[in-house]
Amino acid sequence: MGVSVEYFDSTNLEALTEKINDRTTAVFIESPGSMTFELSDVAAISAISHQYGAKVLVDNSWATPLLFQPLKHGADISIQSVTKYIGGHSDILMGVATANAETYQQLTKTGHLFGETTSPDDIYLASRGLRSLAVRLKQHQDSALTIARFLATHPAIKEVLHPALETSPYHDLWLRDFDGSSGVFAFYLKESEPSYVQKFFDSLQLFHIGLSWGGFESLILPVGQAYRTHTNLPKDGYLVRLNIGLESVVDLQKDLQYALQCAEQMRVENVI
Ligand SMILES: *Cc1c(COP(=O)(O)O)cnc(C)c1O
Repeated sequence: MGVSVEYFDSTNLEALTEKINDRTTAVFIESPGSMTFELSDVAAISAISHQYGAKVLVDNSWATPLLFQPLKHGADISIQSVTKYIGGHSDILMGVATANAETYQQLTKTGHLFGETTSPDDIYLASRGLRSLAVRLKQHQDSALTIARFLATHPAIKEVLHPALETSPYHDLWLRDFDGSSGVFAFYLKESEPSYVQKFFDSLQLFHIGLSWGGFESLILPVGQAYRTHTNLPKDGYLVRLNIGLESVVDLQKDLQYALQCAEQMRVENVI
C-alpha cells in the first residue's frame, strides 16, 4: 500500500526528530518495550509528531487503561491486547483500539473497511475479564515487585528491568505518568553459558515457558539477547522475561531461588 516503515529509539527524542518529516503519517510506540521495559515520553513524542501532522499510536497492553491513559498524554490512538490483562485467563485472542475525537472517524472507517470484527464469544470473555481487572492487576503488581526486588539482590542476577524499581533509569518517568505497574518485567542473568541457562530453565517447576502474558499463570521467556528494540542495551548476560501470575508469591520466589541455585551449583562443580 506504499507505506514504508522506519524504526527509532523511542527513549531518544533526537532519534525521532532526525527521522520525522512532512510525509510521516503515524508514529507507533510500545511503552514499556515488550522485552526490555524502557519507557517512552508519550507527551513529548506526541508534541513533536503533531508538529508534522503525524498521528501517535501507543501500544498500552502492559499498563492497561487502569494504569496509563495514552490519550490524556497526547496520543491519538491507544491500543490494548485484550488477550493479555483484560482477558486475564489466556483463553481469548482480541485487541482494542481507542481514539481521540479527531481520529475516531478515520479509525472506525479503516476498521470497517478491513473487516476487523470480534466474535460474541470473545467479547463475552473479555467482559468477564474486565470485572476482575482491577483486583488482578493489584496482585500482579505486588507479586511482581516482590520477585523483582528478590532478584535484584541475588548474586546470579546482573540487572532487573522494571520501571517501578527505584534503580530503573525510567523510574521518574514511570512516577510521572503511571498509576501503578503490572506483572511483566525482565532480568539479565550474569551467566549466558547455554548449559547454565538450560539448567536454570529446566529446574523451574512452577514457571512454564510462554511467549504471551497477562494471564493468571506465571510464565517465563528465554530471550537471550534483547531484540525488538532500538534502545542501546547491554550485550553480555542472558535476558529473561517473567510474567508474574496470581499464584502464591512465596512459591514463585522459592521456585526461582531453587532454579538459580541449581544453575549456580554447576559453576561450583566446575561443569562450566
Ligand atoms: C502480545 C502483545 C501484542 C499482541 O497481542 P495479541 O492479542 O496476542 O495478538 C501486542 N502488544 C504487546 C505489547 C503484546 O505483548
